[in-house]
Formats: sequence, C-alpha cells, structure tokens
Amino acid sequence: MPGEIDKVRRWVDDAKRVVVLTGAGISTDSGIPDFRGPQGVWTKNPKAEKLSDTRYYMADPEVRKLAWQSRLDHTAWKAQPNAGHRALVDLERRGKLHALITQNIDELHQQAGNSPDKVIEVHGSMRRFMCWGCGMRGPMQKVLERVRAGEEDPACRDCGGILKSDTISFGQELVPEVIDRAMRVAADADVFVAVGSTLQVYPVAGAVDIAKAAGARIVIVNAQPTPYDEAADAVLPGSISEVLPAILGSGARSTM
Ligand SMILES: [Zn+2]
Repeated sequence: MPGEIDKVRRWVDDAKRVVVLTGAGISTDSGIPDFRGPQGVWTKNPKAEKLSDTRYYMADPEVRKLAWQSRLDHTAWKAQPNAGHRALVDLERRGKLHALITQNIDELHQQAGNSPDKVIEVHGSMRRFMCWGCGMRGPMQKVLERVRAGEEDPACRDCGGILKSDTISFGQELVPEVIDRAMRVAADADVFVAVGSTLQVYPVAGAVDIAKAAGARIVIVNAQPTPYDEAADAVLPGSISEVLPAILGSGARSTM
C-alpha cells in the first residue's frame, strides 16, 4: 500500500479541484458509531431504527419521547474532529478542496475548520432542529434545553407543530437542490475521494459515476469493500485517520 499512498498523493498534489465524499467511517475515530456496521447502532438495537423513521415519529408521541431522549444522549455532542477531518481542512487551506459532500449529520467537518460553504450536507444536520408544521429551523441545543427542563415532546412555539432534527430520516425525501449541487460539483472534480462511505446509498453514491464519467480519478478510502472498488483508480483500505493525512496533507511526504 505505500506505493498506492504515494501515487494518490501525487494525484492530489497535481489536482486543482478535489471533491471529497464522506460517510460514517470518517467519524468512527471520533467515537460516533456508524449505523449499519458490525458495531452499528441499528445492528445492536433494531428498535433504534424506528426512531429515525418519520412514519412512526409523526404518528406516535412515545416514539418522539424516545427520540428526544436519544438526541440528548447522542455521542456526537462530546465528539471532537479527528486527524481525518483535519486533513480535509489542510486540503482546503492548500486551495484544492472544491467541495466536501457529506452523508454525516455531525458537523465535525465545520468544527474541524472547513468553511461551511464548502460542505454539502446531503442528510442534513443533527445540530439544527426543524418544525414539521412551519418549516422553522434553529439550533438543536435550544430544543434540547426544553427537553432537559422536562418537556418530553416539545412542540413548535410558533405553530404548535412537531419538531425533529433537521436531518433526512427514513421515509423523507432528500432535498433536490442539495443533491443537484452535490452532483454538479462531482462533475467538476479532477480527483474524487470517497471516504468512509459504503457507497450503497443512492443517489449520493451516483456522484462517483458522475465524477468518473467527467474524467476524474476515483480514490476510495474505506475499511470494507465497496461496490465501486472495481471502478476506482485507487482503493486504500487502511485507517482513515492515518490515510487521509498521508494523501491530502501539506506536510512532509509520507514515509509509510
Ligand atoms: Zn412551527
């Protein structure tokens, strides 16, 4: 693999527009479990999946009460960005990061220091709430304060509507403008790096096809095989928080 690392590093050094797609795998080193992996939230507790299904959430106050409790306890509130996130900040400082498409809802990219306008959150953010009735959005912590103060299922103060996190749950449509933007930036890439994503969720995984069709080199950094490994120009299965600094960083050349 050292040869592969150096090869990809040269591609990035020569690139003008690197587009990165990140999934849950980049945040596991920050202590945020993924959903479908062996240690995943849904693998260990299938009931948890109900909490993120809008049909149950809208219909059943008991599901919402459980959902608010699990939001209070979410590991992401204490999570810190790791070396993988920081490598993407480094890439932006080098002027090479065209866009950062993320399937994650933890905002660790912004916390690490990537500009919010570079980050395309295709599944929304758990750090914001939204009202199902009037569409109002705001900081999640404001609603969590109400839950801590004893409201088990806080309603919108403007319209009385049901509140939830501003994330795309099961049974909910993706936001077309956001997906369109992700696909447009993918077509601009000269190097496209997919990190910590199983690349099994569409339409987002289709960004890889678009980048490849537009002539980008495709690099996959993921612990497990993905359906795109065959189509990729390089596949790096190592630890994300070690591989990303080695291929994206401005520091001394890798000695791995
Ligand atoms: Zn409302």
